[in-house]
Amino acid sequence: MKLYIETVGCQMNVLDSELVVGSLRRQGYELTYEAEAADVILFNTCSVRQHAEDKIYSALGRLRQHKRQNPSKIIGVLGCMAQKDQELIRRRAPHVDIVCGTGQLARLAELIGQVRDTGRPQVALSLDRTESRHEVERSFESYDPLRDPSMRPDPFQAYVRIMIGCDKFCTYCIVPSVRGPEQSRHPEQIAAEVRQLAAEGCKEIMLLGQTVNSYKYDLGDGRRVRLSDLLEKIHATPGIERIKFVTNFPKDMTDDLLQAVRDLPKVCRYLHVPVQSGCDDVLTRMKRLYTVAFYRDMLDRCRETVPGVAISSDFIVGFSGETEASFAKSCDLVREAGFKNSFIFKYSPRPGTRGYELYADDVPEEVKKRRNNDLLAIQTKVSLADHRRLIGERVEVLVEGPSKNALKHGSSGPGQLTGRTRTDHIVVFDGNSRLVGQTVMIDIHEASPFTLYGSVVTGEQVGVDHCEMAEEREPELSAGPRRIGLPLV
Ligand code: SAM
Ligand code: SF4
Repeated sequence: MKLYIETVGCQMNVLDSELVVGSLRRQGYELTYEAEAADVILFNTCSVRQHAEDKIYSALGRLRQHKRQNPSKIIGVLGCMAQKDQELIRRRAPHVDIVCGTGQLARLAELIGQVRDTGRPQVALSLDRTESRHEVERSFESYDPLRDPSMRPDPFQAYVRIMIGCDKFCTYCIVPSVRGPEQSRHPEQIAAEVRQLAAEGCKEIMLLGQTVNSYKYDLGDGRRVRLSDLLEKIHATPGIERIKFVTNFPKDMTDDLLQAVRDLPKVCRYLHVPVQSGCDDVLTRMKRLYTVAFYRDMLDRCRETVPGVAISSDFIVGFSGETEASFAKSCDLVREAGFKNSFIFKYSPRPGTRGYELYADDVPEEVKKRRNNDLLAIQTKVSLADHRRLIGERVEVLVEGPSKNALKHGSSGPGQLTGRTRTDHIVVFDGNSRLVGQTVMIDIHEASPFTLYGSVVTGEQVGVDHCEMAEEREPELSAGPRRIGLPLV
């Protein structure tokens, strides 16, 4: 049986797809990269912005005829859109056989079997958040089956989920509805998963949570495990060289966490802490629970406690009621905050959120577009200055694979490679493909807003013992969705 999967959205979705494919492969499925060659065609979906949903509906539309001609093929919609819109999916794409929400992925194999046995569509969804908290929590099951190293593009990097859901209810955001209540995983379970990954050759772990720094697990004997405690626990895992974590909520950036980032050498000095807007009125309407002054103080605290830390952010432009004056405050913040990079999004009203009910989508599309471009242009200058600071420096890079350029021109033997520093700056350099998965020192010669260019320091490869010398120097990340082997649309 052949399986095809397309993934839209964040790192959490990429991880869910990796796990779905891993567990279906254990049941005999083989992965194919052509939808029409597959017996089971899955779409793991995102609902954060309308655009992500539109992509899935057009992909489903393209398969309508194929399904008509091949009725035994099974088409499934998984994840956030499935949880949010089962009726709409059935109306717009009646040829879909399976609708399976984020909290029900463990049932996917059973659902495929039921479609095959009965010929009838199957739906598995968690409860919506109007029910009692306990019941809703139980209905959103964290999907953490055994890891399968062959499902990652490189065995030396892996995502690890430490929590599911979100309780912040920012007024623009659909995540708390489609991913359910915030629930942290047991620290022992996480540590065991990290040990397994390390035993399989994994060097870099990225811990995932919607508000990862809100992680807390009550052990039941009065002791509470926080993210700082969890980092310390994972830090002790032999073989693990780098630990990152995304995404942070500004209010939950506690001193104990910053001290852990400072004191644990394997923890990368990179923090993704989305601010969303530089204007207090907008932040209030977004219900972000902090002011711009609080956020600026938090940045100072991060930089004072963790020297050399790289910080990145997210912004939404064109949120309801955002005037030119409020947008100008976001521009000021980007000019002054020194973010390594920012992800900038045009506000997309989401039915089912408080923002959709309370506020009109009153910023015209062309104004959103212009603000997006303007803010990006400012951030690009800031990023270039940040990257240029590193020219002449020697940085430690975990080599991830061929650069985009090398992939495009497809050559074998020595070629252009890419990797990231401990602060998540992307570095491109010439080297032999045997360096992939190794940690090397690179001298930086050139910089663009998004990439550093350098050359390998010959005769020098480093392990974690040598990391600290590099840590002093750089800062960087990119919390954007990183491709994990599978088709990502
Ligand atoms: N949990 C993370 C946090 O709180 O920052 C981010 C989750 S969300 C999937 C990623 C980013 O998408 C957010 O930081 C926000 O900038 C953006 N986003 C969320 N809802 C949006 C909407 N309705 N329109 C545009 N961008 C949105
Ligand atoms: Fe969405 Fe806000 Fe939760 Fe992030 S913190 S997932 S933006 S509701």
